Amino acid sequence: DAVVHWFKRDLRIRDNTALSKAVLLAKERGVGLICIWILSPQDWEAHLVSPPKCHFEIRSVELLRKELEDLDIPLYMETVEERKNVTKRLVELAQEWNVKNVFCNLEYEPDELRREERLVRLMLEKGINFDPQHDDCVVPPGSLQTGGGKQYAVYSPWYRAWVAYLHTHPHLLDERAMPEKNPPGFREKFVRLFESRVPNLPDSKSLTDEEKEKFSHMWPAGEAAALDRLEHFLTEKIRKYTATRNFPSKNSTGRVSVHHAAGTLAARTSVRLARDVNSTKKLDGGIDGIRGWIAEVAWRDFYRHVLVHWPYICMHKPFKYEYTNIEWEYNEPHFLAWTQGRTGYPIVDAAMRSLASTAYMHNRLRMIAASFLSKHLLLDWRLGEQYFLTHLIDGDFASNNGGWGFSASVGVDPQPYFRVFNPWLQSEKFDEDGDFIRMWVEELREVEGKDVHRPYGKGGRAEEVARRMGYPEPIVEHKFARERCLERYKAGIGRD
Ligand code: FAD
Repeated sequence: DAVVHWFKRDLRIRDNTALSKAVLLAKERGVGLICIWILSPQDWEAHLVSPPKCHFEIRSVELLRKELEDLDIPLYMETVEERKNVTKRLVELAQEWNVKNVFCNLEYEPDELRREERLVRLMLEKGINFDPQHDDCVVPPGSLQTGGGKQYAVYSPWYRAWVAYLHTHPHLLDERAMPEKNPPGFREKFVRLFESRVPNLPDSKSLTDEEKEKFSHMWPAGEAAALDRLEHFLTEKIRKYTATRNFPSKNSTGRVSVHHAAGTLAARTSVRLARDVNSTKKLDGGIDGIRGWIAEVAWRDFYRHVLVHWPYICMHKPFKYEYTNIEWEYNEPHFLAWTQGRTGYPIVDAAMRSLASTAYMHNRLRMIAASFLSKHLLLDWRLGEQYFLTHLIDGDFASNNGGWGFSASVGVDPQPYFRVFNPWLQSEKFDEDGDFIRMWVEELREVEGKDVHRPYGKGGRAEEVARRMGYPEPIVEHKFARERCLERYKAGIGRD
């Protein structure tokens, strides 16, 4: 007999709701705890998970296994090729081990909710209790409603309700109990039952040895690394967050999204620890940087709440129905130039090259790159949404879809469609000295001063360098692009 916790996107032992419940029950019943992690290559494929993200998860699982081992808790790992067989396999394992209770944390995408619903039924038929928990959001989806009893579709009032709810439900921010050691001899007994090794990266998600080394160094995995990263941010950077967050070369943001996405860090932990360093010891008020950062983590909850209420956004549909009919361009060379960072707009190219190299992109640059694809090139935002997911180490459906919806003006609480970012002005404002551009666009390193934002058009040395170094001229003319975008969006929205 034993209690099981199934790890998914919650690869940590601290502050983990389902795991703490599993531990409590095991203790109450005087039995041991077994943990499971299942890799389904087909599932990774279906969700467009990037190879660096798969690698990050595998590295995190390896570390998790070691931490659990110190507590005499076995972690059973298996590769189940087809995603539809994961449920069957879980039931089989629970039966094999004579387990009566299986816990996990909920994932909120429709496929995952359906899978959990099925598991509740399948397990019940075998007399097993399957108990999924809210954990991924700080405030569980469905908790907040407008005065009229509806789901919020605008962030600001939603955020005020989120803060108020947490002030009246402070336990939602409490740290969940850590697992304790399993009873003596338990692990040995179970380890004899199964042979389990951390699976390798599936072929479809392979990385070269150099890439593996690079990403391991750049993005240390596991919860200890996550907590270190968070602590460093909270002591060194958070106070200046509001003033510095929009400047990519300042490296001033938390850089914990990769941990929130893999669950090596709970959003709840981030919010609680940020609250605790605020002068007010509250989520709002106090130090501006801290209030601002918590409000940013709240965006993650917001997009999940939206996803749960309007699941059609997972089905390649824009949140705003009236934006379904925008006529997009079909231009493969333009899409390719965007992915390769060869659009001739230095800030866009720097952004896209930083993504290709680090599997990460600063938030301001995500907005600039997304706006450029959907508005300047007038290419379908869904192409960009997919491209980001397949390349980001912090790829996350709800946040990515929300960010693309915002930037392309088709999502929940978006930029108005007539606000078309001017890439040169964005560049001058947020990369004033051009440091970020020079770091990523090597053809322009010799260009001095402000000309780096727009090397072509005025002749002179900047243009000479750009040409000599083979930097492309703008693939689309700004004024033309802006007008085309306004026309197309207007016509699309007007059409039934
Ligand atoms: P910080 O500025 O330190 O913010 C703290 C945390 O708050 C982040 O780690 C993240 O979990 C959350 N957060 C911050 N901003 C947002 C936001 N706008 N939406 C949702 N959560 C937010 N974020 C992802 O985690 N995964 C994605 O796939 C993703 N795709 C995006 C695509 C586009 C087009 C845009 C505009 C934004 C996207 N974001 C995504 C949101 C945001 O860019 C990243 O969360 C942020 O850049 C991560 O860096 P950080 O940890 O230093 O953030």
